[in-house]
Amino acid sequence: MNPNLIPTRIDKHSPTEMLLTWSDGASYAVPFVDLRFFCPCAGCVDEHTGERTILRSSIAPEVRPVGVQLVGRYGVQISWDDGHATGMFHFDRLRELCTKLGRKLT
Ligand SMILES: [Zn+2]
Repeated sequence: MNPNLIPTRIDKHSPTEMLLTWSDGASYAVPFVDLRFFCPCAGCVDEHTGERTILRSSIAPEVRPVGVQLVGRYGVQISWDDGHATGMFHFDRLRELCTKLGRKLT
């Protein structure tokens, strides 16, 4: 993907969705619960098989982010109110999740 494509704004969009705006002007609303489910950390994904090791049903439908932190120039770390904070989303993966799971706003 375009290496210059970076998120310019990540914020709460609604009580259940994250707003992600990108440097190419595209913006998406992505449900918190989907972002949480697709957490890329070693506790949520088998690093050898790439298989998701958490169950969708183990995630509270009302899960909310409590913090979003930039990691270098390539990713963001999202902390959740269920205490989970180890997931670091690379920008390209985050964009992919936006197009796959999100609602395109602009
Ligand atoms: Zn995780």
